Amino acid sequence: MRPKLIVGNWKMYTLRASARDLAAAVVQRVGTPKVQVGVCPPSVWLTTVAEVVRGTPIALGAQNCHYEKEGAFTGEISPQMLLDAGCAYVILGHSERRHKLNESDAFIHRKVLAALQAGLKVILCLGETLDERKANQAKAVVDRQLSGCLAGVDANALANVVLAYEPVWAIGTGLMAEPADAQEMHAFIRGWIRGKYGEEAAVRLPIQYGGSVTPDKVAALFRQPDIDGGLIGGASLQAELFTAIVRIAEQAASPAA
Ligand code: PEP
Repeated sequence: MRPKLIVGNWKMYTLRASARDLAAAVVQRVGTPKVQVGVCPPSVWLTTVAEVVRGTPIALGAQNCHYEKEGAFTGEISPQMLLDAGCAYVILGHSERRHKLNESDAFIHRKVLAALQAGLKVILCLGETLDERKANQAKAVVDRQLSGCLAGVDANALANVVLAYEPVWAIGTGLMAEPADAQEMHAFIRGWIRGKYGEEAAVRLPIQYGGSVTPDKVAALFRQPDIDGGLIGGASLQAELFTAIVRIAEQAASPAA
């Protein structure tokens, strides 16, 4: 069975002390989880948080990287720097970067290839806007994002990819997708992977949901057959809420436990 994966995206929140405190609270509350758990603080606090999570089951991730190893790219951070800071994961293609910073599929694609080649696991975000959904274009958009961002990623490299379906209209809005609607898109994404990489890869690939996940709403979502956990924004900034979401994922992963 695919492992469920709960990852906190702290976005541009926390200062050094609050990042350290939040990480420590997550470590303490989550304990030894029965699902995979990670946190993605702002890049400036990666090494601070790395010290807190080192030797614990909580993985460290970054929210972005550049595609070059090094060079004259003022303000950018390379995949190699993230590895050196202790990261296992990097989030790429988040809709806030696609839409507020104009990141294209072609640009994200270069970063996906570089991050995988460097040895990071990539959490690749996909998702349609409200207008695109209303125009019945949601699947076409996700199809385009998958083709654009995964071009040249072979089956071996795909083992280090996690997909995160994050409908743009659900992010930070309080409007979590209905479980059945999210499941339909996750099944579409898994079908796309099956078509390109075959059954084994499709069965293995974790596909997270992201968008206004809170503990009170998420149980039914995590029970959907193609939903393998969540990428959590707002609720990941409170250790108590984040841990409650981890517990619900554990329950969904082994309902008899
Ligand atoms: C996100 O930023 O990836 C996200 C899902 O945010 P939120 O949970 O706040 O909607």
